Amino acid sequence: MRLVLLGPPGAGKGTQAARLVAKYGIVQLSTGDMLRAAVAAGSKLGLAAKEIMNAGGLVPDDLVIDLIDQRLDAPDASSGFILDGFPRTVAQAEALDALLAKKKMTLNAVLELVVDEKALLRRIETRIEETRKAGGEVRADDNPDSFKTRLEAYRKLTAPVSAYYASKGALKRLDGMAPIDEVTRAIDAALDG
Ligand code: AMP
Repeated sequence: MRLVLLGPPGAGKGTQAARLVAKYGIVQLSTGDMLRAAVAAGSKLGLAAKEIMNAGGLVPDDLVIDLIDQRLDAPDASSGFILDGFPRTVAQAEALDALLAKKKMTLNAVLELVVDEKALLRRIETRIEETRKAGGEVRADDNPDSFKTRLEAYRKLTAPVSAYYASKGALKRLDGMAPIDEVTRAIDAALDG
């Protein structure tokens, strides 16, 4: 199973991706996680990405395309994957098509979690609160200013990605405002159908 999961920050992509990983025995490839690991490691990539990420902007396409190119070749991705947070621009979507063709892989589906933007800020505030309560570390970009920039980047650069996949007939749009288990059921139905 090879999937792309689209949706704005706070749409519930991480939660649903974890469930898909368990159900299909595939790996979750999150460019956000990879970039945060690079920042934590202080690598050249991490240094280039840190400020952009903290401000809520998008890291240059070529850097994330490179990350995905390498990651798709790892043995654990051979039985399938779910891309979470990638592609985020039409240029990344086109590059992904080229990479998959080169690797002789095809996508089974592109799932988009559609959510009401007004609810997103509330969700992020809840995420911050829950992380704090659990004694975890709040992400540097989980604050109202960066979040606004992340939403703007989504609207401007990532929303066209869903139109890109819709025009190819690959897109399945799902109600991300529904309760978590219902979203999971809708995803199951979309993938079985
Ligand atoms: P995420 O964990 O998906 O919310 O990503 C956190 C941050 O990492 C984003 O706000 C961007 O700064 C950066 N990022 C993650 N994935 C990408 C991508 N595909 N293209 C550009 N920047 C990305």
